Amino acid sequence: MEVMPLLLLHYHEMWLKGRNRSFFLHKFVASIHEQLSGLGRVKVELEDGRVLVRLQSEQALPAAAEKAQRIFGVAYYSVAAEAERDLATVEQTAWEQLAGQSFRTFAVRVRRADKTLPFRSHEAEQRLGRTILDRAAQTGRSISVDLENPDLTCYVEFTSRRALVYTKKLPGPGGMASNTAGKLVCLLSGGYDSAVAAYKMMKRGARLIFVHFHGVAARPGEASEPVAREIVRTLVPYQGSARLYLVPFYELQREVVLGAPEGFRILIYRRLMLRIGAAIAHKHRALGLVVGDSLGQVASQTLQNMAAVGAVARLPLYRPLVGDDKQEIIDVARRIGTYEISSERFTDCCPVFLPRSPRLFATPEELDRAEAGLDIPSMVSRGVASARREVYKFVDGRVIEAQSKEPAHSDAGLLV
Ligand code: ATP
Ligand code: MG
Repeated sequence: MEVMPLLLLHYHEMWLKGRNRSFFLHKFVASIHEQLSGLGRVKVELEDGRVLVRLQSEQALPAAAEKAQRIFGVAYYSVAAEAERDLATVEQTAWEQLAGQSFRTFAVRVRRADKTLPFRSHEAEQRLGRTILDRAAQTGRSISVDLENPDLTCYVEFTSRRALVYTKKLPGPGGMASNTAGKLVCLLSGGYDSAVAAYKMMKRGARLIFVHFHGVAARPGEASEPVAREIVRTLVPYQGSARLYLVPFYELQREVVLGAPEGFRILIYRRLMLRIGAAIAHKHRALGLVVGDSLGQVASQTLQNMAAVGAVARLPLYRPLVGDDKQEIIDVARRIGTYEISSERFTDCCPVFLPRSPRLFATPEELDRAEAGLDIPSMVSRGVASARREVYKFVDGRVIEAQSKEPAHSDAGLLV
């Protein structure tokens, strides 16, 4: 009987301590099913600290392996062949795995999840190594063992039920299983940074609600909403579904331009965004806000200005990129597919609303004074009330826009 190869996923055990274990594993399995939806029937089994994914057909394997790179919590993964746990069968399976591959040196690495087996790992390694050398010699191949730096490694894992044999160990994204950490609101501009900030927090298990503030496009085709929407669509598969709030910002910015000193404008815009974001967070019982600030990247991101802006956040403010360089951020953006989207020309703020020379060092008190002529509570509640909400879902391997049931601002009055 031919055995179907399976996808073997390894996760880091660190976060699987005590009572949280079954919660995390349950979520992890759910996200595996979600990621692999659209590939036919998928069976997921937990076995001795690893995950075995069985697919309906061998054709689905390359696509599944590709998708495994996006399942948070996967430390590394392999396409493995399964065998009975006796060494003679494993020898045969190992040789079948190796025979078609070109290499001159190799090593065998055995791990026993089941310590009751009647042989030790290194005994099994030696025996398998010898068999591989013999088989190669029989077919006229000259290969040798190199334990330090082999061209190819044959991995064998013995679980309590089977042996798993593979030769390629590929890195997964790492992180925590999706949707295990709680909810956050992410202020998403459409630029490189906030998309990457969102990704980093999702990777640690946070579930994000997105909020985008948009102006009026400077030129036709340069609106920022389609860009924010496309980024959300790119990120949705990681958490299964997501809400995107689109908040018209033009009028509020105009009020800032008319009512506050020019040098503080951008900082006041940011404070308004945080307040409106916090109101939306409150509505969803989210635990904090995420922004894409990176220390010193632009005038509004000096330590002084971040403190002055952040002073109004009534929820914890997360800045996952604060210590990252632009290049590091761009590299992640390319990897996750948001780079191209953020590279499109768009304007989320009318250029005439930008100050000629923004202040580099403001204090919270200066900003409070600068805002004195503005009716902040009214601006925040108008912002929340005018938000439009869109809902995206990942279904059968595709992102679709779902119909939103309740109005976006059902209890806006309570929020500010
Ligand atoms: P990004 O690349 O994310 O646009 P940036 O380096 O351009 O960031 P700023 O424009 O100063 O920096 O914005 C800092 C952060 O404020 C952004 O990362 C984002 O979290 C938030 N933000 C800025 N503009 C918007 C917007 N139009 N809608 C939602 N959030 C925004
Ligand atoms: Mg920006």
